[in-house]
Amino acid sequence: MDYRRLGSAGIKVSSLSLGSWVTYGSQVDVAEATACIKAAYDEGVNFFDNAEVYAGGMAETIMGEALRKLGLRRSSYLVSTKIYWGLEKGPNERNTLNRKRLIEGIEGSLGRLGLDYVDLLYCHRADRETPIEETVYAMSDIISSGKALYWGTSEWSAEEIREAWEIADRRNLRKPQMEQPQYNLFCRERVEGEYARLYEGLGLGLTTWSPLASGLLSGKYNAGVPGDSRMARPDYAWLKEKSLTPEKLAAVERLSQIAKELGATTAQLALAWASSNPRVSSVITGASSAAQVRENLKAVELVGRITRELKERIEAAGASDRKAP
Ligand code: NDP
Repeated sequence: MDYRRLGSAGIKVSSLSLGSWVTYGSQVDVAEATACIKAAYDEGVNFFDNAEVYAGGMAETIMGEALRKLGLRRSSYLVSTKIYWGLEKGPNERNTLNRKRLIEGIEGSLGRLGLDYVDLLYCHRADRETPIEETVYAMSDIISSGKALYWGTSEWSAEEIREAWEIADRRNLRKPQMEQPQYNLFCRERVEGEYARLYEGLGLGLTTWSPLASGLLSGKYNAGVPGDSRMARPDYAWLKEKSLTPEKLAAVERLSQIAKELGATTAQLALAWASSNPRVSSVITGASSAAQVRENLKAVELVGRITRELKERIEAAGASDRKAP
């Protein structure tokens, strides 16, 4: 495993990590989650991603139980959570980053995880109503209380991240250290374009999500929709509709050819490509089985083989705006 600093912070995260969206609490129970986390940890993964909203809080409960069952040394791994959508419907309980929500949110997450602190705490989306200053003060206070060690954002605009950072800088508060954006061969603009000035400028680290575009970049959907897959789930019909387009499937076909030449799987190629971007501190993978975890983590060995020339080939093959044949 390769370990990278989270932007300018001293903390190091494994270049591939493991998340829990869709899986824990919906497809994966405590036993399977324990097997997935063990498979990942045994290969050197030190970062496990979560959010209060995943499976209505169940993903945190399951991850906490799995970590306790495995009895891992707390200092050997990082756990994250994210707050914004909330679990209740009241005006101060959902879709907000106000002080009350953040302070109560972290308490709820720690209770479900059974932990004294999370390592990374994210504002899961931007809140256009709460003043950014209020959010920065609350996040900074949570860090000072020891309930989280670093804070960051997820899918905030570059402008919003800069504003939060500048408020923290002016007021001598804890600065946002990392952002969690989507990044895969079909979704590149934010990481490669919009955020370009933030890496050196603010020392921002990235932990990126959906590296396989929800499994599409594994190639398994090119032969139809497997019954046990994410896209077969009725609650994710919206995802299937936007993902399984002829253009994207044709791009995956081209990528599979390149993977074959390299003796790798299509999933490994897509993960290695994402990890080959030096701005990405950790690529958060997702898996519904320990077998997928093991296959995916082998991508680490492929990263060093991605030369500039190969990268260009992969990116040309992955361009999904080409018309399908
Ligand atoms: P991916 O795009 O990698 O999709 C993961 C899914 O693809 C798996 O659950 C599995 O689904 C399928 N898959 C994985 N590996 C393979 C394989 N080798 N062969 C075949 N199918 C495979 O990642 P996610 O979309 O899960 O995102 C990763 C993590 O990022 C999440 O768990 C979460 O922690 C985080 N995230 C953060 C967001 C944010 O807003 N900050 C948003 C979304 C995710 P199946 O077997 O069911 O088909």
